[in-house]
Order: sequence, then C-alpha cells, then structure tokens
Amino acid sequence: MSDLSKIPIHTEKHAPEEARTNPLAGVFDELVRFAQSRSMYMLHYCTGCGAIELPPAMTSRFDMERLGIQPMVTPRQADILLVTGYVSVKTLKRIILTYEQMPSPKYVIGICSCTVNGGMYWQSYATAKKLSEYLPVDLYIAGCMPRPEAVIEGMRALMANIQSGETEPWKDYYQRYDYYLGNQQHLFGDNWQTPTDVIGQAQHYGLAGPETEGEHTRILQQYQQPLVAHKLRLK
Ligand code: SF4
Repeated sequence: MSDLSKIPIHTEKHAPEEARTNPLAGVFDELVRFAQSRSMYMLHYCTGCGAIELPPAMTSRFDMERLGIQPMVTPRQADILLVTGYVSVKTLKRIILTYEQMPSPKYVIGICSCTVNGGMYWQSYATAKKLSEYLPVDLYIAGCMPRPEAVIEGMRALMANIQSGETEPWKDYYQRYDYYLGNQQHLFGDNWQTPTDVIGQAQHYGLAGPETEGEHTRILQQYQQPLVAHKLRLK
C-alpha cells in the first residue's frame, strides 16, 4: 500500500506581477485567458426547478457547446459550478463539498431568483437564502426560471469577464475564508467541517491574508476530526 506522506507536494507559487520582466508575458496571459474562457467544463448541480432549462440550453436548439462549454460529471475537472435553483440547508452542504473539490480558478453561477434571495422560499426555514454568503458567486442569472437564452447570455458574460481578467471571486474564498466558514457554521453548527484543507490551499496560492483565519477557523480546529478512510465490507 502506498504511503501518502511520502508523495512530494508541489509548492511552487505564482511569480508576483512586479517580478515579470518579459514584455511578452502580458500577451501570453491574454492568450491563456482567451483559451480558458473558450474551453470550460460545467458541473451542473441540479438543486431546483431551474435545472429544467439546462437540457434545451445544452442541446441542439441553443447549443451551449458552440461556446466551448461542455457538461462534466466530476468536480475534479470542472471549471464552472452551476447552482440551478433553491438550495436547501442539506443540499448546501453538498454544494460546498463539491465546490471545494474543484480546482482553481473556478467559477460559480447562481441560476434562478431563489439563489439570489431565496425567491418564493424566502420564508422557508429549510432553505439558504443568499448563495453568495456561503460561496463566492461570479454571476447570478435571475428569473423564475430564466430561459435558455438568459442562461447563454450569462455564460457569455462570464466568458467576457474571464477573458478580461475581471472575474476572480474564487480568490475571495481563500482571502476571506473565515467569513464564509462563519456563515456555514451559523447554518450547519459549530462542528461543520469538510475534507478540504482550505487554509493550506490559500497558502499554496499565496492568497492567505488577515481574513483567511479568525474566530471561525479556530472553532473549526477545535472540532476537526482526522479523516478516516471508509472500510469496504463484504457481506
Ligand atoms: S426561481 Fe422559480 S424556477 Fe427557480 S428554483 Fe426558484 S421557484 Fe424554481
């Protein structure tokens, strides 16, 4: 059996902007951002009724693939997380687990009014009202439910933001992790934890700041249990 502690960890950090002296670096960055915005895998997390507009958006009539966007079945290779409607407290835990497993840079789109402010479930005890309190959201597509044209328009807006380098809310999750974790703990309880080492990732990307750790990450450390591998039982 392999010993995970012996596997070397790649710790190289991105060079700071001022250290880049090559005049072609900016051109290359633009090219990379262009390619990135035109080749994205989308993990659609079908949380509510808004998900029903995705099949027409993806298939022949509206054909999302012509924009370079394709569905993906695993968060490990996905770039975009679509949250397609109301989010119950139970579902939000799975959304956060999924989001944290996606590689950075990663983008979140909230589809439907329910992700903006709870929509018609704003008074429900069982739903989270505002998705951006728990995850950094790049873009909301409001409507009950938004039509495929609106979904495509939202995708185009995201692509334009990626190409211009304007959309980087994924960094906010690392820079203000204590804020997001505090909201998650408020909803799920103090013993809430995920298997992802977010603080370690923030340090890896060079994004750890004064708001990465705080009173909520201290609570997390207090309750954090070591991960134990599931045992396979054959009956
Ligand atoms: S906004 Fe309307 S269509 Fe979308 S999840 Fe809420 S109730 Fe359903």
